[in-house]
Amino acid sequence: MKKPPKKTALQEIEGINGVSRLNRKAISQLRKKLPLADPDELTDKLLSGDPVALSKAITLIESASPKHFETGQKIIRKCLPYTGNAVRIGITGVPGVGKSTFIESLGKLYTGQGHKVAVLAIDPSSTLSKGSILGDKTRMETLVRDKNAFIRPSPSGDNPGGVARKTRETILLCEAAGFDRIIVETVGVGQSETMAHSMVDFFLLLKLAGAGDELQGIKRGIIELADLIVINKADGDNINQARLAQKAFQTALHFYPPKPSGWTPEVLLASALNNKGIDKIAAKIDAYIKLTKENGFFEQNRLEQNKYWLFETVNLTLKNNFYNRPEIQKKLKKLLIQMKKKEITAFEAAKKLLS
Ligand code: GDP
Repeated sequence: MKKPPKKTALQEIEGINGVSRLNRKAISQLRKKLPLADPDELTDKLLSGDPVALSKAITLIESASPKHFETGQKIIRKCLPYTGNAVRIGITGVPGVGKSTFIESLGKLYTGQGHKVAVLAIDPSSTLSKGSILGDKTRMETLVRDKNAFIRPSPSGDNPGGVARKTRETILLCEAAGFDRIIVETVGVGQSETMAHSMVDFFLLLKLAGAGDELQGIKRGIIELADLIVINKADGDNINQARLAQKAFQTALHFYPPKPSGWTPEVLLASALNNKGIDKIAAKIDAYIKLTKENGFFEQNRLEQNKYWLFETVNLTLKNNFYNRPEIQKKLKKLLIQMKKKEITAFEAAKKLLS
């Protein structure tokens, strides 16, 4: 950690680095000054589909202030009976693959069909960069202006558990506000895909055709998570490459075990920029939902996801409580020194710490 600049005239130049610190403090103070919303009134407005009320409620569940958090939780409890009715879709892919262009196309198709679309994001890097994959206002320009679309950037959080909770609760609030298509966008960084996968019904992997490296550079396990692989930018000179990539992925999919959903993943081509292939993809998603609702997997999966998040939350809380205890921190330091001196094994040290 960099030391804060000393407040002398000579150190003034350091103030440039201090800007983000000052701003963040100002923002958090401003947030704390926001009058506490009446949860009943806010919930009523939210349930009637008011996007301003929805935004306010999300801000409350994201807030670090315990009072705001408590109000947020009250709102969630009131909203719970009205949740669960949306189709939750996860979309992942490396930066530049065309996620926002694709989501804009798919989102427009959905609103054109009379659906209400919420686009959320999970971007673990946003905590570090203070940016966000959805933070850039120029992304999804047309969808932003669509009154049946709601776009919310990635929440920041001190840990992935925080980001996960906020995103899951935001999904619930959006559903209560009448959004029936929830798109969760994520970048292929860290654990963000597994996190997104564990909160959606359908998981879509966006890929690009590369020069012979179609199957490289994919994190292990991501293909296994995908219900559909879409080769984007299948247009212009790229079309033949895209077809080759499609074949390569189709072959690769044969080596994976059948999915518990009973669904067989496919590889489709798209040009998000030219709005090509999007309708076919939407139809595939519909077919998946129909199949899994009929065979019971849809409900079962949502139950499993809830269970998973319950245990995740307990595990995380226990772990944090443990490591944050001053006596544990002191003891840990000593044990690490003993381990370095080869006086104790890692297993023994862990046992001592736990006891
Ligand atoms: P993201 O970082 O994954 O969200 O990618 P973007 O949606 O921002 O797209 C990155 C770049 O690829 C932009 O310049 C887009 O215009 C371009 N792009 C996205 N989809 C397509 C497509 O289907 N075809 C072509 N040729 N370009 C595309």
